[in-house]
Amino acid sequence: MTKIPFQAESQRLLELMINSIYTHKEIFLRELISNASDAIDKMYYRALTDDNITFNREDYYIHIQPNKEERTLTITDTGIGMSREELENNLGTIAKSGSLAFKKEQEIQDGHDIIGQFGVGFYAAFMIASEVTVTSRSVDETQAYAWTSDGTDGFSINPVDKETIGTTIVLKLKENSEDETYDEYLEEHRLQTIVKKYSDFIGYPITMNVTTQ
Ligand code: ADP
Ligand code: MG
Repeated sequence: MTKIPFQAESQRLLELMINSIYTHKEIFLRELISNASDAIDKMYYRALTDDNITFNREDYYIHIQPNKEERTLTITDTGIGMSREELENNLGTIAKSGSLAFKKEQEIQDGHDIIGQFGVGFYAAFMIASEVTVTSRSVDETQAYAWTSDGTDGFSINPVDKETIGTTIVLKLKENSEDETYDEYLEEHRLQTIVKKYSDFIGYPITMNVTTQ
């Protein structure tokens, strides 16, 4: 399996994220939910212009699922999905990423400013995850692909089975250290609080299966 290197700017942003001492790491979820919502918007507009697609509002949602045994957090959307090329281009480069493309050298060095004020986008996931797997099936394709990376020197993309159009992101949480724990991102209540804080305005349902006692 071949590894594709990150574009230079991406590599620098990733280093910033991986070594982040930023105290509001919780914003990773805001970024991923925002991307999921954008992807559903795109599906909505596609449906308006393509008679083969019917947009049923109830089919479109964002689902969040922590798994304590596996130490994973999964975010699923029923948006437009990504092809192999889109996975490679959109997640391997920051050139197209709205907010960061405008940031200057200086500001990239002082990461706090960027993280706080602007969306840092998808790579924010690497503040809390040691490995990220993005499984996606584009509305235009029958084959799905999985993009996976530990955020260090590149990513790989492989064909996988996925029945439905959309994207599933699995975050393998970092191991706790003396200075930092990540267990809170496996707690249902904590996740609910983060969603409420940053993503209350999102126009699609954000669901989570919660444990009942
Ligand atoms: P931005 O949202 O500012 O464009 P991101 O780094 O957050 O930057 O995301 C980069 C790109 O990756 C997005 O523009 C989009 O094309 C693609 N992308 C990310 N997440 C998803 C998703 N869940 N579904 C479809 N495309 C996505
Ligand atoms: Mg984004």
